[in-house]
Amino acid sequence: MSGQHIALISVHASPLAQPGAGGAGGQNVYLHHVAQGLVSMGWQVDVFTRRTTIKQECVVDTAFGYRVVNVSAGPEEPIPREKIYEHLQKFLSEVLLYQKVHGIHYPIVHTNYWLSAWVGLRLHEIQGNLQVHTFHSLALIKFKGKRDLDKIDNIRISIEKEVLDKANSIVSTSPEEVKHLKKITSDLDNVSIISCGTDQRLFGATDRTSARTLLKVPLDAKVVLYVGRLDPRKGIETLLQAAKILSSEQPNVLVLIVGGAVAGHEDSVELRRLKNIVQQLNIKDVVKFEGLVEHGMLHHYYAAANVLVVPSIYEPFGMVAIEAMASRLPVVASDVGGLRHIVVSGETGYVCPPRDHCAFSEAIDLILSDPELAEDAGRKGRKRVESHFTWDIVASKLSDLYKMLLKDEN
Ligand code: UDP
Repeated sequence: MSGQHIALISVHASPLAQPGAGGAGGQNVYLHHVAQGLVSMGWQVDVFTRRTTIKQECVVDTAFGYRVVNVSAGPEEPIPREKIYEHLQKFLSEVLLYQKVHGIHYPIVHTNYWLSAWVGLRLHEIQGNLQVHTFHSLALIKFKGKRDLDKIDNIRISIEKEVLDKANSIVSTSPEEVKHLKKITSDLDNVSIISCGTDQRLFGATDRTSARTLLKVPLDAKVVLYVGRLDPRKGIETLLQAAKILSSEQPNVLVLIVGGAVAGHEDSVELRRLKNIVQQLNIKDVVKFEGLVEHGMLHHYYAAANVLVVPSIYEPFGMVAIEAMASRLPVVASDVGGLRHIVVSGETGYVCPPRDHCAFSEAIDLILSDPELAEDAGRKGRKRVESHFTWDIVASKLSDLYKMLLKDEN
C-alpha cells in the first residue's frame, strides 16, 4: 500500500538541477536527498518547483521514487530570485489546480526558502494543511550591514517573520540558526533542529592515489580544495590571500577551486573578480579554477585533496564541509553559522575568524605539515558524519516530525 502524500515546495531550487553554478547549490542537493529519503521511509513525495525551461516536462516521475512538478509561473527561463516573487500568485494557483486535477490532498506541505514560505502560508490559509518550513538562509544575517534595503528585501524580512510565527513547525539546520531566530521572535516552541546530511556511501569510497591519477594531479602536490558556488559571501578571496602566504612556506601547494559560472549570472562576475585577484597576488601557478564539477564526480576531488577550506562570510549550514569529512578530509572553515557546529576545531579540522587570511593560512599550514594530524582529523571527521550527518538520519528525523504533527492534528 502506498504511503501518505507529502508536498515539498522549493520554488527556485529543483532537486534535479546540477548544483555548483547559476545559483544552484546546497538547497538543490538537500531537496533531492530529502525527497529520496522520505520515499524510502514510505512517504509519497511530490516536489513543486518553478519551470525554468520549456524542455522540462511538467511532471517528472524520477528514478528515485519521488515526483517533480515543474510549475509554469513566470518566464520559462532562469530569472534572479528577487524577480520570482511577482510570480508566486501564479505558482500558488498552479499548485492548487494540480491538486484538484489529480485529486490529491497534502496533509503536510514542507516549504524551503522564503519564496516557498509565502506559497505555504497561503496554502495553509486556503486549505488548512500543516506547514513545515526550512529557511536555508536568513535575511536577518544576509542583509546585516546592508544599507538601504530594497523593497523586495523588506518583503522577504516580513515573510520570514510571518512563517516563523505561523508555521506548524520550523526545521532549523543548525543551533546557530536557532540563535538567530531568537532575534526575530521570542516564541520558538515550533522549532526543531534537523541538520543537513551527506551521502556517506559516495563520499569516502575513493583513495587518494587513484583520484589523483584520474584528475591528473601530481602525487606530491599539497592540494588545498574549495568546493562551492562562486559567490562573494563564500569568502574565496580569503583563501586566495592565504594561498599567497602558503605558496612561500609550503612546496608544491596547489589550490583547486571547484565551482562553475554561467554567462549572465552573478557567478561569472565573481569568477572574473577572483581571477583578477589571482593575477594581482601573482599566484597563477598555485591556483587552478576547475569550473563546475558534476555532483556525482566530486568525490574524486575530495579524495585527491589534503584539506578542504570553507572561508564563508555567512554559511547557514555548509554541506561541502560534511562531504569532505565523509571523505576523511580535514576541514578549515570560518567560525560562522552551521560550520562552527560541523567542524570540531582541533579535532576534525580548525575554525578561523571569517576574512582572517593569516589565521586560515596558519591552520592550513598545520594540516599540510603534519600528515599524521591530518589523517587523525580525517578519521574523526568521518566518524562524526556517520553518527550525525547522513541523509538516512535526516529522513528518519523528518519522517518522525511529520508523523508527530499529524498525530497532534488528529
Ligand atoms: N557542488 C557541486 N559541484 C560543484 C560545486 C558545488 O556538486 O561544482 C555542490 C556541493 O557538493 C554541495 C553544494 O553544491 O553539495 C553546495 O552546498 P553548500 O551547502 O556547501 O552551499 P550553498 O550552495 O547551500 O551555499
